[in-house]
Amino acid sequence: MALNLIMLGPPGAGKGTQAERFARTRGIPKISTGDILREAVHTGTDLGQRAKAVMDRGELVSDDIMIGVVEERLNRDDARSGFVLDGFPRTVPQAVALDRMLDGRDPLIVVDIRVPERELVRRLASRMICADCGANGAPGEIVCSHCGGQLVQRADDNVAVVLERLRIYNRQTKPLVDFYCTRSTFRSINGAQGTDSVAADLAAAIEAAGSSNGNLPGACA
Ligand code: AMP
Repeated sequence: MALNLIMLGPPGAGKGTQAERFARTRGIPKISTGDILREAVHTGTDLGQRAKAVMDRGELVSDDIMIGVVEERLNRDDARSGFVLDGFPRTVPQAVALDRMLDGRDPLIVVDIRVPERELVRRLASRMICADCGANGAPGEIVCSHCGGQLVQRADDNVAVVLERLRIYNRQTKPLVDFYCTRSTFRSINGAQGTDSVAADLAAAIEAAGSSNGNLPGACA
């Protein structure tokens, strides 16, 4: 059975880090819409040119564009045996479109990573990523431990844009919890812990969601 997983949660919750790690251990692709867009901006494609200003303001790229990008990506062969989606869906119309794309495929497992807002602002304002490969830098590192590239702050990680991204998350993306929480394959985990503890909780949540066949009482609380 294919493992089709989406990670929900606010910016800075650790979705990217956990998605990367989980996808690597399971040998399935991690599909990050933020990474796809940053790569497009970097190489100056049509998509990148259309997305750059919107991303720099911390706003969302249009549903039509994002749905097209993800649909094309999920139809590639390597996503047939499963995938981890990071950063998509971010709006209810994107979630509705994803259900349509996955019609006839194995069930979607949804994990929501919860982190208090104070902690998110602290994490985002100090986050560094590699200018070459996009990996997150560890605290105190100057160069990327994966490729030796230079660590820089993401263009949208300054405090003003971080606050705007959190505002947009609360308005447009948080409603996805209500969209998914009645499903038996929905779980939420505590993201305000060390990376290894979150990874362990994530693996357990996915295991439980994959073998469940009834609604989880209280998941919508
Ligand atoms: P992320 O790396 O997931 O934080 O995404 C960085 C930025 O890319 C976001 O602030 C949005 O501007 C844009 N973006 C990424 N994914 C989506 C999406 N699913 N829908 C709309 N915009 C997106």
